[in-house]
Amino acid sequence: DDMDVDTIWMDGEFVDWQDAQIHVLTHGLHYGTGVFEGVRCYDTENGPAIFRWEEHLERFYNSTKPYDMEIPFEPDELTEATLELLERQELESCYIRPVAFYGYDTLGVSPGDCPTQVAIAAWPWGTYLGEDALENGIEVMVSSWRKHASSQIPTNAKTTGLYVNSMLAGEEARRNGYREAIVLNKEGNVAEGPGENIFLVRDGEIFTPGLSESILDGITRNTVITLAEERGYEVHDDVSISRGELHTADELFFTGSAAEVTPIRQVDNVEVGERGPVTEELQQAFFDLVERRTEDHDEWFTYV
Ligand code: PMP
Repeated sequence: DDMDVDTIWMDGEFVDWQDAQIHVLTHGLHYGTGVFEGVRCYDTENGPAIFRWEEHLERFYNSTKPYDMEIPFEPDELTEATLELLERQELESCYIRPVAFYGYDTLGVSPGDCPTQVAIAAWPWGTYLGEDALENGIEVMVSSWRKHASSQIPTNAKTTGLYVNSMLAGEEARRNGYREAIVLNKEGNVAEGPGENIFLVRDGEIFTPGLSESILDGITRNTVITLAEERGYEVHDDVSISRGELHTADELFFTGSAAEVTPIRQVDNVEVGERGPVTEELQQAFFDLVERRTEDHDEWFTYV
């Protein structure tokens, strides 16, 4: 148990950690019928600030749409709950996990009258891919598992059940001595990591798989595209990237709310290289942004 949590917001109430319980016949447990978010709050020079909360909240509600799931709270109520949750636990830098799922009523695959339950938890969480990852980069393995095609399950919805695929890919990589996986889509092109989007740098230009490549529309992806364009880079964000292009890239990096901006130094047996200058510049811009060492994009921050 690595979670230092004492209060959780659940279905409209703040409850103690040990009281945040659900029934074993919960629909979402059996069929993966839930949606979730992963958000970071940074300890900035102006106090704790949640990064791009509004966009995460919007994606949270959008994720429910294919499943006909109705979150029984208004977005403002979830914002209030989250801010209070952070205040009550005096959290400064932390990770925030909202989740909504079909609860207990029936175990037919059709959720019928299952209620939609909602919870929000927050806890301190360090770098996702290891302390040294941000500086030294990581070794990744192209997984033998393919990503769900968006014609099979909506990949732009952050659905709990989707992460069985992420777990398989990530664990396969770690069993083979790598830190993380890269997952190809059904067409065999590069999609993303198990919980990260991927970027490639070649001849000073930046490439990332397009939204039609069965990827999550990552909020960090969008942030990094914006930061790169503001710094004059040509960003190609609607392309297909083949597996072989990973090996010939000048630089590669992952983005994600958990992974932040993490350089990739090796793909399978191919050494791509130490963190390159473009990755370093964007990583620096990202951390300057989220820790508020700049006044840019203050609209992206919800101060606690
Ligand atoms: N792809 C997948 C499959 C993910 O789980 C995540 C993490 N939410 C991302 C990409 C990155 O998205 P974001 O930057 O919004 O965290």
